[in-house]
Amino acid sequence: MIFRGWKLSIGLTLILVFGGTDNLFGWARHNLITQIIMENPPVWVKEFSQVKVNKSIYEINSLNPKFNLIYTIPEKSKCPSLPSEFVSYARNPDRKYGFQGAPMGATISALQILADFSDEPDWDMDIDVETGQVVDFMGGSQGYRHMYYPAGTFHIPNPFMPQGKAPERAELFYEYAREAFSQGDYYWGFRFLARAIHYLEDLANPFHTVQLSTKFIMKEDFFQGTIQNTKNYHFAYEDYVAFLMVQAQRNKKGQARLLKSINQALAKKMENIRVAAQDLAGFSNREGAALLDLSFDFFGEEFRSNQKLYLNAGKIKKMDRRPEKERALAITEKMLAEMSSVVKGFLDMAGKELVPGTDSSD
Ligand SMILES: [Zn+2]
Repeated sequence: MIFRGWKLSIGLTLILVFGGTDNLFGWARHNLITQIIMENPPVWVKEFSQVKVNKSIYEINSLNPKFNLIYTIPEKSKCPSLPSEFVSYARNPDRKYGFQGAPMGATISALQILADFSDEPDWDMDIDVETGQVVDFMGGSQGYRHMYYPAGTFHIPNPFMPQGKAPERAELFYEYAREAFSQGDYYWGFRFLARAIHYLEDLANPFHTVQLSTKFIMKEDFFQGTIQNTKNYHFAYEDYVAFLMVQAQRNKKGQARLLKSINQALAKKMENIRVAAQDLAGFSNREGAALLDLSFDFFGEEFRSNQKLYLNAGKIKKMDRRPEKERALAITEKMLAEMSSVVKGFLDMAGKELVPGTDSSD
């Protein structure tokens, strides 16, 4: 009886923990990550240096009907690629740092399309579409599509069964890319590849492949407190990783090791994007699960709250002295390296499959 009650309360907690309205982003700066991955781009991608921007002719009916396509944004609303101070992306999800874009009819490089639009799946295309119990357990519609709990791992409500759609979404956009390339529509071909890359990148974040750390449970405010508390640590982690990368990009020192792990990763051989995405989720679940516990200790008690709390420059200074930092960085480095290998492997496969004549030795 007690056991059943315990199971019920954990179940209820998880519904509430993961059923909130805030969207979780995977990584705060997909565009920056993709840009670093592409510092040594495959030759075939580099060759598309001038791609003409054209309208979408594709019907994708599984997207949020309120989602609007953007091609560029007014100059005045553009944000710098590398903000001069610490920025909480979680607090300002609409700010498109580093976004370039290009207006209809203009030209843009494939590399820029890949960087710009690897953020696009976070621009509300996946909200308010999926419903159901499993969806509630995975942070709502967007969470369900951007996460994946691998087969054989424990999670609720279907322990040991695969849960989440990120690998499927990656595959869907790869198939759209295939269609676009076959019609010579390179702009949309690369934009769809960028979307597929987004889901691959998300799966390297252990917060997207592991459901919960018991450290996030707040006994004193079991429901709302646990929800908010989990989000506080998830957002803090995403903001922190983005901060370290921006800092390293700017002064080429700091945590340059994170950039190096992305940059120097070797392409992983890939034959099927869905399987590769599932394997990446398995890797981040196995090798990264400790990060959830660790993030609680590393970001500190001050994030433990039933109120929204975001990372700021002052807190980062405090964290710099914490002993958990080294381990948190080591795990992050490992995740980023694996992610980069998978994305590089994906682009190699895409070149061979979508662009006839691409040299397999690229
Ligand atoms: Zn995402």
